[in-house]
Amino acid sequence: MLKNPVRYIKGVGEKRAFVLSKLGIHTAQDLLYHFPRRWEDRRHFKKIRELVDGEKVAILGRVLDAESTVTRKGLVIVKAVIDDVSGVAYLTWFNQPYMKKRFKALRGKRIVAYGTVKKNRFGVEIENPEWEEVEEEEGKESLNLGRIVPIYPLTEGISQLQMRKIISNALDILTPTIVDIIPPWIREKRKLLPLSQALREIHFPTSAQSLAQARRRLVYEEFFLLQLILALRQKEYKEEKGRSLEFDVFGELEKVLPFTLTNAQRKVIEEVANDMKKGHPMNRLIQGDVGSGKTIVAVAAILIAVRCGYQCALMAPTEILAEQHFIVLSNLLFPLGIKLSLLVGGMTQKEKQMTKKLIAEGETDVVIGTHALLEEDVEFKNLGLVIIDEQHRFGVMQRATLRQKGLNPEVLVMTATPIPRTLALTVYGDLDISIIDELPPGRRPVKTFWVPKSKRKWAYAFVREEIKKGRQAYAVCPLIEESEKLQAEAAEKLASDLARLLPDVRIGLLHGQMRPKEKEQIMREFRDKKIDLLVSTPVIEVGIDVPNATVMVIEDADRFGLAQLHQLRGRVGRGEEQSYCILIATPRSEEAKRRLQVMTETNDGFRIAEEDLAIRGPGEFFGTRQHGLPDLKLANILKDVKILEEAREDALELVVQDPHLRKPEHRLLAKEIRERFGDAIEMLDIG
Ligand code: ADP
Ligand code: MG
Repeated sequence: MLKNPVRYIKGVGEKRAFVLSKLGIHTAQDLLYHFPRRWEDRRHFKKIRELVDGEKVAILGRVLDAESTVTRKGLVIVKAVIDDVSGVAYLTWFNQPYMKKRFKALRGKRIVAYGTVKKNRFGVEIENPEWEEVEEEEGKESLNLGRIVPIYPLTEGISQLQMRKIISNALDILTPTIVDIIPPWIREKRKLLPLSQALREIHFPTSAQSLAQARRRLVYEEFFLLQLILALRQKEYKEEKGRSLEFDVFGELEKVLPFTLTNAQRKVIEEVANDMKKGHPMNRLIQGDVGSGKTIVAVAAILIAVRCGYQCALMAPTEILAEQHFIVLSNLLFPLGIKLSLLVGGMTQKEKQMTKKLIAEGETDVVIGTHALLEEDVEFKNLGLVIIDEQHRFGVMQRATLRQKGLNPEVLVMTATPIPRTLALTVYGDLDISIIDELPPGRRPVKTFWVPKSKRKWAYAFVREEIKKGRQAYAVCPLIEESEKLQAEAAEKLASDLARLLPDVRIGLLHGQMRPKEKEQIMREFRDKKIDLLVSTPVIEVGIDVPNATVMVIEDADRFGLAQLHQLRGRVGRGEEQSYCILIATPRSEEAKRRLQVMTETNDGFRIAEEDLAIRGPGEFFGTRQHGLPDLKLANILKDVKILEEAREDALELVVQDPHLRKPEHRLLAKEIRERFGDAIEMLDIG
């Protein structure tokens, strides 16, 4: 019944089924899970006379008339007048002239209007209200009035009342067939409403409390399914047969490292070494703020794998970063007799062919590259370790592709995008997580200034001063998302601008359209201090490491997101000198101002991530990583933390109790997971 096409529900039919499909509703079950976006308490309406300025209310009134006026600046204002027994109120729209006609046609009809009350000496007004006509309903209980009423996300071709009717019908027909997939022991432990009751209450709540309980039950289910899939996956990884790699890595590292490890690095390397020693493949995420020294952890893992006779692959999101890793790792590992190769898209066909041959024949121990590593004809002789740097830049599929080039290789992913714990649980619940929560000694927090565009000259005068002291600087051109070519042009333009402004400064240019050889050349010159000021596109954002650079100037900084700004700033403050980040921006939106404000207030990546989440909402945070996993429709990962943690705890417990969900009380759950999330759980052995 639940999986039947929606058109068999009373009141739907062929045509409306098409309309519903635009909302992602295809089956009867989809309809039940089409949740209201809010609820309106229409059990009692406030009288117009009793409304208070600033409050959000729904009022019930009769349409009297509608008028429009045009201001001197050409703004069209439509005002509709409605009344109830106590008084009149105005509903106002701007630049929607057609509203006049619509409301004239509604004269004498009842409507419900919802919005924020503006009360002044001219009367009571609601600007841009949400509203709907209270259509007369035949039959029994009203779905529109005298109750807490659901307000649904809609699309053209269906009204609130029609949606309410369809969903109400669906509930009547389907409730007896709804089975609860949450195992009884969990329902009891967490005092969850039965599913059928929760579904009824979420649509047509009988009280605010029962709505809250229903929501909790359904939020729990969303988190629980997600956490269960992640927990099953994690268990699966852990059961896979891997290899046991053991080597005294600290002893050998000490021989080549120019510094001593921080305690945090030591701890994380121990965790990695421990994972690799176990007979199952490692699946670990290393989180650490920019500059915390994640690369060394990668080096340690590589040393272990190579010394045990395996090849390693390290994938980075940009060519510049791959090249830098190649240089840094070569400096450290070459003296130990380890052979490294680079494989990036910009190499000539011939160069690539040669490198691929070395990889296939096992003539190279470590391959460092970009997406180019994923190409089909890249074959390893015996790949034992896969490392993915700046992993948020890659999708799950890409991680899987690289992994499949070996036989259950150890997997290490690294990210500098620190995410709050709850989000980490939601997104990376199938990985073990290590955190480098300490910066190398002697680092000073970067001082950040926000400078309006009118003071741009001041910013570059400051840059010149720093360069005179022997330091180096970056200038990042405005972000242009349309095309790589336009982005490169913006960088060129900035470079020639600055050449005029700072004639005594040696300027270099770096952008994505340059050949890899050219890029390498520029980066080398910058590292060798033959360039004072490196003008770049935002590609510089990830991973570049030149400790003598102490100033980062970001043009039109308001165009960047917080995470990106934080990454860019992370390019400086890597040495012992005081570093600076100058954000040049004259932002228009409040949101952009807020971002810049946050940047000047803190250097703490975790705080920035939290702010970012609060400003942007969780949606964008997921990116491709979330692909194929259950949606969170009701759940809010910021506010429902407690429910998330309960769900995670229960999911882990369930997997321990019944690793393949084969107990009778878990069969339904296994079946449901298969049906709903087939793609995401392809390789899971359950049910
Ligand atoms: P990220 O975590 O951003 O990838 P990197 O691995 O690039 O950081 O390291 C940042 C800089 O800090 C590099 O110049 C690196 O050589 C240096 N570094 C890393 N660990 C230490 C340490 N324990 N002591 C001193 N410098 C370190
Ligand atoms: Mg790095």
